[in-house]
Order: sequence, then C-alpha cells, then structure tokens
Amino acid sequence: MSIPYGKQDINDEDIAAVIAVLQSDFLTQGPQVPLFEGAIKEAVNAQYAIAVNSATSALHIACLALGVGKGDLVWTTPISFVASANCALYCGASVDFVDIDANTYNLSAQHLQQKLEYARVHGLALPKVVIPVHLSGQSCAMQKIHHLGQEYGFSIIEDASHAIGGHYQGNNIGACQFSDITIFSFHPVKIITTAEGGVATTNNASLAQKMTLLRSHGITRDPSLMNHSSEDNCYYEQICLGFNYRMTEMQAALGVSQMHRLQSFVSERNRLAIRYDRLLEALPVQLPQQMAETYSSRHLYIIRLRLDKISLTAKAVFLLLREKGIGVNLHYFPIHMQPYYQKLGFITGKLPEAELYYKNALSLPLFHKMTLAEQDKVIEVLSEVLLS
Ligand SMILES: *Cc1c(COP(=O)(O)O)cnc(C)c1O
Repeated sequence: MSIPYGKQDINDEDIAAVIAVLQSDFLTQGPQVPLFEGAIKEAVNAQYAIAVNSATSALHIACLALGVGKGDLVWTTPISFVASANCALYCGASVDFVDIDANTYNLSAQHLQQKLEYARVHGLALPKVVIPVHLSGQSCAMQKIHHLGQEYGFSIIEDASHAIGGHYQGNNIGACQFSDITIFSFHPVKIITTAEGGVATTNNASLAQKMTLLRSHGITRDPSLMNHSSEDNCYYEQICLGFNYRMTEMQAALGVSQMHRLQSFVSERNRLAIRYDRLLEALPVQLPQQMAETYSSRHLYIIRLRLDKISLTAKAVFLLLREKGIGVNLHYFPIHMQPYYQKLGFITGKLPEAELYYKNALSLPLFHKMTLAEQDKVIEVLSEVLLS
C-alpha cells in the first residue's frame, strides 16, 4: 500500500448531501450552487463568487472578463500547473513567464519588477494581466505585485487553486484585497473537493456579471441586460459568446458540506507540516519556508534535495521513494519546458531559478487524513534513501 501525495476526505455528511440532491428535483441549476457560492463568499470575505466546473474554466472566464484577447500579453509563473498559462492562450493572447523567488518558489515580485522595467525601457509590450500562483497555499507578495499593477496598468488574477483557507496580511486569500479576481480549484487533491470544480471570487460587480454570463452560454434572464423587453418569463437572450462551464448540484452540495470542515482541514495540514519541519530538520534537504504575513493552507509540502550532500541523483531519490511506496511528486515541471510551449518558441535557460527548482524539488505526501504512522513511514524511508 503506497502513501499518496494527496487524497480527499469524504465523510458520511458529504455522502448524505450528495444523495439528497440525487433525490431532489434539480441535478443542475438548482439551489445548491448559490448556497455553495454563499459559503465561499462568507469564508473568504468576497462580494461575489461564481462557481464553475473547474479552476481551469474559472481562469478562462476570468481572463475573458478582464478583456484578454488577441494581441494581449499575460504573464505568470513557470512553476505551476499548465492551466495557469493555458488560459491566456484560450483567449488568443500570448503568455510569458516571470522567474520564481528562491525561497517561496512563487512568482517573484522582484523579477516581475525587473521584467516590467526592461519591457518599458526597450519599448516591449507590457502584460494586460498577471497571474500570480500561491504555490502550496502560501500567498505571493501580493502588496508589491498590486503596486506594480497600479504603476504598469495590468490587472491581477490570483490563481489560489492551492490556497483556500490561507491568509495574507491577516486577510483571507480570495478577498481580492490586491487583485481583481481570485480563482480556487476543488479537484480531489486540493484542500476541499467537489470532484471537479472551481470558483472565481471578486468584489467588482461588472466582472462578476461578465463571468456569470460566460459560465452559461452568454445567456441572461436579467431584463436590465436584454436588448428587447418581454412579458414572457421564459424569455432569455444570448448577449455574448459564452460556454457551458456550470457546476452541477451534486458537486455544489458536496462543496457546501466540505466547507464545514475547511478550517479543520487547513489546521490539520499545518500541524502535519510543522511536524515534518521538526522531523526532517537533520536531513540534507531545504525545508519549505513560510514568509511573514502569510498563513498557508499547506496544499503541498515541498522539499529541495541538497544534491551536493547526497550520493544519489534527484531522479534516483524520486524513483526509490516511489518504489518503496511513498507517493512523492514534482510540482511542477516548468511550463515553459513543456513540449507544447517549446514548440511555441520558449527556450530553456532563461528562467534560472525555476529551472534549478525542478532539478531538486520534491513534494512529500500531505493530506488531511494522513496518520502520524504514515508520516513517520515517509520520514523513515526518506532518511534511509538520503543517508544511504
Ligand atoms: C489544480 C490547479 C489548476 C486547475 O484546477 P482544475 O480545477 O483541475 O481545473 C490550476 N492552477 C493550479 C495552480 C492548480 O494547482
């Protein structure tokens, strides 16, 4: 039996909530989605929440709502899931990458500033949108990124797929204090799950309205948005080109039920992460650093192997751990090095921190229901491998 790097926690209440929906009148477009959106708004302290069928869809409609289109440029980090960059390409825009911070592995505000200055001095295009990703659940340096946004005129989408339940400067991630839109993912490996699912939060009424339209075919029943008036209450109009990105009622009901345990999921992950910190201290690895003003949801526990201090290659360590039943993973292979992005013309060698990171980063198993015995097993096997 191997120990996975992440795993959902489904209890009897979750199951009962989904069954109740299956026995009700609405499997889609019923009361559960608004209830789930309400739970998200309340938990993160945002004015609007638009639930969709994945975080990838949320990123897509967030970009579109901010006007991203052909000829525009979106910047993000190379150390993320591919969806953080693909969303720009869906809109016909171009994407570019900002190198990561050596301590947090998040998009570096310093590198962002340098890249912006360089673009301005050389008359190059500036980004329309920047998408910082809160890797592992630890917030990026949002205040500084927001400041740069004001100076250079770009909008900000926080990809908080890992980060629900986290804080930055005492505010909930998702409150959009320093961004236009925040998106979350509810894939089963993330903090809470709806199987597939995502949400976009914002405090901007116009962005919320646009994303609501884009989620469901560009169709509205709101008379104030329609071109023609009608007495018929079945009348609707399509006023833009949207998609079917709706979340089902079963998913939303599961989400409502999971949200009851958000705080306990995050505190348990923090407890396990701190225990890892203590028990891995003597090993030849760099432990994940937590910045001041951040409280991470601890989606991932990423260590960096000190390859100068061990006799094995990173690949050998990875394979040995897998062989011994420890479900280690790499988050992430740099996006600009993916074959698809290489075909688009991205070259390796220009994002040194990200490229160094992928050579020695390793995610250890961490999930809410992980037992101390399982954690001890991970530590024991890792020590055995690294000290061999
Ligand atoms: C999981 C993830 C996504 C995509 O989420 P889906 O809900 O699977 O579409 C996007 N960005 C990051 C950083 C992720 O980890």
